[in-house]
Parts: sequence; C-alpha cells; structure tokens
Amino acid sequence: MKKVVVLGAGYAGLKVVHELQKRANGQVEITLVDKNNYHYEATALHEVAAGTLPPSKISYPVADIIKPAVTTFIQDEVTGFDLDDKTVSLKNHDALSYDYLVIALGFVSETFGVEGAEEYALPMANLEQAEAIHTHILKMMDEYKKTQDPDYLKLIVCGAGFTGIELAGVLADGRKEYADRAGVNPSQIKIEVVEASTRLLPMFSEKLANYGVNVVKGLGVELVTGARIQKVEPDKITYTMGKDEEETTGTTTGKTIIWTTGVSGSPIVQADEALKARRGRSIPTDHLTVEGHDDAYIIGDVAAVMPPEGGRPYPTTAQIALGMGKYVAEDLANRIKNGSQLAKPFVYKSLGTVASVGNTRAFGEAMGHEYRGYVASALKKMIANESLYRVGGAGQVLRNGRFDLYH
Ligand code: NAD
Repeated sequence: MKKVVVLGAGYAGLKVVHELQKRANGQVEITLVDKNNYHYEATALHEVAAGTLPPSKISYPVADIIKPAVTTFIQDEVTGFDLDDKTVSLKNHDALSYDYLVIALGFVSETFGVEGAEEYALPMANLEQAEAIHTHILKMMDEYKKTQDPDYLKLIVCGAGFTGIELAGVLADGRKEYADRAGVNPSQIKIEVVEASTRLLPMFSEKLANYGVNVVKGLGVELVTGARIQKVEPDKITYTMGKDEEETTGTTTGKTIIWTTGVSGSPIVQADEALKARRGRSIPTDHLTVEGHDDAYIIGDVAAVMPPEGGRPYPTTAQIALGMGKYVAEDLANRIKNGSQLAKPFVYKSLGTVASVGNTRAFGEAMGHEYRGYVASALKKMIANESLYRVGGAGQVLRNGRFDLYH
C-alpha cells in the first residue's frame, strides 16, 4: 500500500484525491491536509466579497469528496516539508511520512511591498477574506447613515487585473444592496479602480480588452489607469503617474480599499529552498514533479508551468489547476500499478478565458473565437460548472445550484 499525502484542498489537490480514489482503489492510502474542512471556488470569491452570492454557494465540505475507506482528512496547517526525509510537518499534529507527496497549497494576496497595503487594504484571497469585505462594506454603509460622510459610500479597488475587473462588475451589481443599507440612491455609491498599467487585460486582444473596459465604465465605475499605488493609509491611497520630470502624484480617499494587485503562491513553498520558488511558485518538471525529487509533485497556484514554446509561465487559473490535478492522479496511479511514470508529459489545453463583469455581462476567448455579452456569460458559467463537475462530480454542480444562474 503506497502512502500519498496531498497538501491543500483547492482545485488541484482535491482533483488529485477525487481521481486517485477512483484509479488506485485498494492500492493507495491518501492523506489530505487543509487548514479548512471545506473547499471553496476561488473563481467566485469576488461574488462573496460583493455580497452577490452567499459563501455557502461557493463552498462545500471536503467530506463530500473523500472516500473514508481510502482517504483520511486532517484539518491542520502545514508548516513545512522535508523532501529528502519525505516528511511533512503540521502545526497541531505529528509529522506525516509519505511515499508520494502532492504540494498544492494555493495562493495568497501579493502586496509587492507597497507600504501600508497589508495593514490598511482588504485582501480577497480566501473565503474568510471575501466574507470580511462584504461585512466591511455593509458596516461602512451603516457609518454613512450616522456621519453623512461620502467617503463611506466609496469603494476603491486596487489593481485592474482579472480579479479587479470582475470585482468592480459585481460591486456595481451590489450597489442597490449597499445603497438601501445607507439610505441613499445607488448612483451615490462610487466605485473606483486604480491600475498601474495603461493597457488593461493584456491576455485579450486590444479590441476585446477595450470592449471589457467600456462595459466596466458603462456601469459607472471610474477607472484610473497608469496609476502606480505607492502607499496605503487608513482611508487613503497615494499613487504616481507618468515618468521622470512628468511624474505626478495623486490620491484618492474612501473607507473601503480592496487589494487585488495580484497573487503569489503559498509562503510555505517560498520558504523551502529546494523548491527555488519565485513569488511562491516553483517550476516543475514536465511530469509536474519537483526537480530532483520525482516523488514530490507541485501543482496548482504554487506551480509555474512553462508553455512548450517558452516565454512566461501559464497564468494560474482553476482550469490549469484541474488539468494538473488530473494528470498527477493518472501519473500516480500508473506508478502505483505499473511501477513507472507516464510516458507523456503534462500538456495544457485551455478551454478558454472569460471575464465576467457582474452576473450577465462577460467577454472572453475560447478556441480562437472572441465572445461578448450573453454568450460569453453563458460560456463562463459553463466553464465554472465544468470546474465544479471536474472537482466534485455532478452532485456538486446541482447542490451548489450554479444552474439556477441560467436564466
Ligand atoms: P493579476 O496579476 O492578473 O493583475 C493584477 C493587476 O494589478 C495588474 O493589472 C497590475 O498592473 C496591477 N497592479 C500591481 N501592482 C499595482 C500597484 N502598485 N498599483 C496599481 N496597480 C497595480 O492578478 P489577479 O487579477 O489577482 O489574477 C491572478 C491570477 O488569477 C491571474 O493569473 C489571472 O489570470 C487569474 N484569474 C483568472 C480569472 C478568470 O479566468 N476568469 C479570474 C480571476 C483571476
């Protein structure tokens, strides 16, 4: 019986467990470790932050996925691992030993060292943080009632990457809820997105990106581009624009400052020298193992997978995490049953990339075609359902009621 330890119950880790339970039943003992006893859809965190979806719609118990006869779940925090000794240390449990390890510890919010960001901006990198944002917004609306200070009605999003754009869209959808709470007109809720780059959504063609930007602007969101945030203070951000002699400084104030300037892989991965990680991401071999340690896999947001043509690593998405999870389960099953790794390396084929701006507006690209509006929105929901399906099977899709969004 081979011992497989899987660290992290995100898309990648849970996918490995789900598939391996089917593929190597009776030949494997799996131990899954996560600090939470639930899985959440990281792709929908912005909806919880805005309050357009409750946390229960984007999360489900790990117990729903694991088969207790094969898999043991340990709810604890991983504190490190020793790839030579083949052990994993945990905060509140004895160390675990393994035959094979799967490191899938996911992502954290990245501040890039911007002064005050950690202290005064709200990160949105896990379910608790997303819930805290919604709670904060409602609290600020209550404060407005007492003070009539318009800064309480202002929502500032720092960074207009995929996450910032999608968040701005759902915050616009949430305006009515916030306004009702504050006793004002929805148009009085101001949403401002501050972004360093001048070319937004670089993963899309200029035309499609412009379309997306216009959709966001059409929702009454103010987009400040070319503004590099330098400092966050309580209720205030300071940014610089332009270069050299032309450089100017600007500020904006508001009581809700949300930080979406990017993510990095788990600090545990960053801290382990053997993984040679940058921003918490390590480049795996073409079989998704750690270089020099072929009994340890590294997948999901802690892996920087290079495309065959080189250049920059693939962006970290749920889709690629699920692809990696599936491949690792196949590779492990092959090793356990036949004693060898798969001949084929990991290859990633994207289903497409779609950004949603609120519940019904979206734009994106799939299989060489660009999509806008309702079609893109439906495509996005299909990809989300496909993700849920790939992790948890049809039961999860039905239980979490994603289908009720098709109307
Ligand atoms: P990102 O790195 O894609 O975007 C962060 C943005 O913040 C960038 O535009 C950057 O210029 C800006 N920024 C950074 N520092 C700044 C500063 N000091 N001042 C102002 N702006 C600053 O990060 P993300 O949006 O969190 O996305 C993380 C990953 O998740 C990406 O790989 C993304 O593709 C993926 N993602 C995918 C989807 C989807 O497929 N629908 C949705 C969300 C996220």
